[in-house]
Amino acid sequence: MTELQSEVRYLKGIGQQRAGALAKLGIRTLYDLITYFPRGYEDRSETLPIAALTSGMSACVRAIVVTEPSLSRVRRGLELVKLRVADDSGSIDVTYFNQSYVRTQLKKGCSYIFFGRLAAEGARRTMANPVFEPEDGPAALTGRIVPIYRLTTGLSQKLMSASVRQGLDAAGNALPDPLPASAAENAQLCKAPFAYENIHFPADFGALELARRRLVFEELFVLSCALTRMKSTRIKKSGIYISTPRLERFYSKLPFLLTGAQKRAAEDCTRDMRSGATMNRLIQGDVGSGKTVVAAACVWCAHEGGLQTAFMAPTEILAAQHFRTFSELLAPFGIAVALLTGAMPAKQKREALARIASGEVSLVVGTHALLSESVAFSRLALVITDEQHRFGVNQRAALIAKGESPHTLVMSATPIPRTLALIIYGDLDVSVINELPPGRQKVDTFAVGEGMRERIYGFIRKQVLAGRQVFIVCPAVDENEERPQELKNAVDYAAELQEKIFPELRVGCVHGRMKAAEKDKRMRAFADGQCDILVATTVIEVGVDVPNAALMVVENAERFGLGQLHQLRGRVGRGKYKSYCVLFSDSENAVSRARLKVMEQTNDGFKISEEDLRLRGPGDFFGSRQHGLPEMGLADLGMDMRVLSEAQDAANALLRSDPELRAPENAKLRERIDTLFSCNEGTFN
Ligand code: ADP
Ligand code: MG
Repeated sequence: MTELQSEVRYLKGIGQQRAGALAKLGIRTLYDLITYFPRGYEDRSETLPIAALTSGMSACVRAIVVTEPSLSRVRRGLELVKLRVADDSGSIDVTYFNQSYVRTQLKKGCSYIFFGRLAAEGARRTMANPVFEPEDGPAALTGRIVPIYRLTTGLSQKLMSASVRQGLDAAGNALPDPLPASAAENAQLCKAPFAYENIHFPADFGALELARRRLVFEELFVLSCALTRMKSTRIKKSGIYISTPRLERFYSKLPFLLTGAQKRAAEDCTRDMRSGATMNRLIQGDVGSGKTVVAAACVWCAHEGGLQTAFMAPTEILAAQHFRTFSELLAPFGIAVALLTGAMPAKQKREALARIASGEVSLVVGTHALLSESVAFSRLALVITDEQHRFGVNQRAALIAKGESPHTLVMSATPIPRTLALIIYGDLDVSVINELPPGRQKVDTFAVGEGMRERIYGFIRKQVLAGRQVFIVCPAVDENEERPQELKNAVDYAAELQEKIFPELRVGCVHGRMKAAEKDKRMRAFADGQCDILVATTVIEVGVDVPNAALMVVENAERFGLGQLHQLRGRVGRGKYKSYCVLFSDSENAVSRARLKVMEQTNDGFKISEEDLRLRGPGDFFGSRQHGLPEMGLADLGMDMRVLSEAQDAANALLRSDPELRAPENAKLRERIDTLFSCNEGTFN
């Protein structure tokens, strides 16, 4: 057994040269080596008869060498070894380029398992450079699921997997295992030796899944413990104490029953607000999950305590809509609400400012106009921002500065996988509303190509004749530099649809380059039913509720992020009508196609963002990674929400029972957490 911190170059089977190559991948210690997880796997477990192989296919064959391998030097620097192999069903000509040593390894009359890609030209069937192993030897490269590692020059997959093999054998039972036994047991995780063996050399796909689950859990568990400990050690700013009355009193006057998830989120908030420390909470919930009423519950609590709330929305339209919604929700409680936006007439603005300053209104809903110097509150205790990603941290801070450390609540519909939320909103506590109000219908979604255009136009007409309204979203506003002929632009396309396709219908248009007031007017006209089809850019991504809209058509859908498509789709299906989403795309790109397929398959925003993350990789998710967290290994790749919430729950449970991780069985965990952040000191302030 070897210490995990011992250097790989001292391992048997890894010499100076291989150690040098491994170092280029950042692998110096035994620990580095065995935690260098494969980036993928190749299934070589199935062995086929030679006759069953078709051209271009990669597979294993069990075959006998039937000719003496012959070596020929074609020219300087090019040596060929040629031989023929055969099984009961047929034969293949095998060629090795510049691997003359195989000549002595492959013996005529002996049986091997070869893995390679078959090339067939007429009757000639060949394989170039197949990997091979004796039929009865221990299988590492053939006849099984084989790991694929990220490599660097000087290393091959074969060398890499042989090194890992050495590493695992040397580690023996000294594998890293920071999980307290009880946590591993509760989560029904496999043991560390099984996990490390099977993540590298899976016995089968079931074993791989078990291994992955254990290691992802472990990674997220450690991260959760670390973040929770960080939050609790940070000196909490003392906040305004808001005694929270029983929320049932609020709920009982609402037009609907709250979902369990909504109640949990509201309770998280009220617990924070009466904790004596300032609340810093993010509420994440899919489009339509009902975040507004949770915010309203908080407004109500503050109001009951004689305190004010400021609610900031990213656009005029949204501010106006929230103003109406809050006014309705809060009317039964006699709570006065004011609206404040930049576009308001000066007189109205003055009036609103006076009512805010006097404390007459308990809630002011506005845009960033709220940040203006002229806005003064009488007793601001709670700041809520909607669609957080549209506000800079500075803007949030500017609003917060208008009170004396008010509580803050951030609401986001961007379905960020929770691991990323943890990272991006490191300073916030997170509540997730993971349940939609009852009775919501799935929006049926179809990814289609140009060939379907006539039929879709027919469908649009049918929807309008049935009394519904239709959104058509384009990626660009007007003439754009790249590929102008292929990309629909909103202005021209609206004109074309009106003149040529739907002369009998009313087609409207709205886009981001319009003045806010104009945008607002046109959106409202659509909401009021004054036009049938609204051609738009993504300005409608967040916007007024149009319950009568039942069809969302997206042009050049491959140009949009999945999160964005999901937001767009959330614009329909908000009323009682069966709703549809059509995604036009002629993209041949495999990833694009896979992404649109995800949209067809699920309406779950979190699932969609996980898939997006999986398909595009985390680097693309927010442009670039700017967080200061340690690199994540496995959990970064295929993020599994269930494992994440299990890991977080387990971490919370553990820290409740042993906040300082002093118990002997938690020593390893504590050690791991300490090393996790040792290289990231100071990133979290
Ligand atoms: P979002 O989370 O996207 O901001 P909203 O708060 O706007 O969602 O809610 C979407 C719609 O669902 C609104 O019309 C709201 O009145 C309604 N709603 C919210 N919660 C419930 C509920 N528990 N039962 C029924 N309808 C609800
Ligand atoms: Mg909302």
